[in-house]
Amino acid sequence: MNIPPLSNRLPRVLVTGSTGQDGSYLCRSLIAEGAVVFGMVGPEQESNATFARTEGVHYVDGDLRDAPSLRRALEQARPDEVYNLAAVTFVPSSWRDPGAIFDVNSLGVARLLAAIHDCGAPIRFCQASSAEIFGSSSSGQPRDEETPLRPDNPYGVSKAHAHRLVAHAREAHGLPACSAILFNHESPLRPAHFVTRKITLAVARIARGLDRELVLGNLDAARDWGYAPEYMDALRLMLRAREPRDYVVATGRAASVRDFANLAFAHVGLDWREYVRTDDSLQRSQDCSVRIGNASRIGSELGWKARTSLEELVAIMVDADLARIDAL
Ligand code: GDP
Repeated sequence: MNIPPLSNRLPRVLVTGSTGQDGSYLCRSLIAEGAVVFGMVGPEQESNATFARTEGVHYVDGDLRDAPSLRRALEQARPDEVYNLAAVTFVPSSWRDPGAIFDVNSLGVARLLAAIHDCGAPIRFCQASSAEIFGSSSSGQPRDEETPLRPDNPYGVSKAHAHRLVAHAREAHGLPACSAILFNHESPLRPAHFVTRKITLAVARIARGLDRELVLGNLDAARDWGYAPEYMDALRLMLRAREPRDYVVATGRAASVRDFANLAFAHVGLDWREYVRTDDSLQRSQDCSVRIGNASRIGSELGWKARTSLEELVAIMVDADLARIDAL
């Protein structure tokens, strides 16, 4: 998506979480538009097996838990734009080490905003916020920017904390900052502990005769699943809007885990019922039954809308997993 930068010169951009799913897509689109892109990488990421560099990105050291390292990263990058995509993300494990979650997801954002504020330069900031800030109790009603924040797990609380900090930096300190309230967004780069990728990987393995079954938890849970690269377009649009503000980024349509599995198996000509088994140990004690976002504000104000259908998303992910297996 072609999104003009704010000034005539190409922007310098700092992206945290640059080696994850979202960071990889965002860095690719920024590089494609000619921006000078700096990817911030923390100490563990270099040794992480999934550490994936994007060609053309300049990598700089920086850790959201370490304020001086953030100042150094900002001095190196001298950015016009900062996107904060770094986070500890997996919800079910968020009680295992809540301290780490808050240190990165909440305090890390406070440290980064303070470092940006202290730079004194007109740096625009976009925070990857999450639908988890609304909590899991659900009426099935789509949530929008006016929905009260009622997070109910450590991950959601940490993201809600960051969300409010960004609003405070904007409202009280005039920082051009915004939060993208991202609903579930998937792609072939989604880690396999999330259910969509777990399904597409299993489907590809079963289709190639490498596995015989797929064990899942709650098949009734419904999510608003979008295509991650499009969600990164929404972030660029928001950050470059005349008046940065918060927007929900979602498709407006929810499907169940069962529907997703059905589509994925059907894509390779199989019937999901012959391969999927459920196991109660994979059920969550507290699970959001339906989560849908209402993205009409970003549609009417900035012209963004999700374009990839669920059927297309499933096909993209299954085909990518088949191609990976075939390339081995
Ligand atoms: P989340 O919405 O951010 O928690 O994303 P996930 O992909 O981890 O989970 C989406 C939904 O799928 C949740 O309601 C899970 O309970 C449900 N689900 C059902 N089976 C599984 C499974 O085997 N793994 C995961 N991760 N989720 C599952």
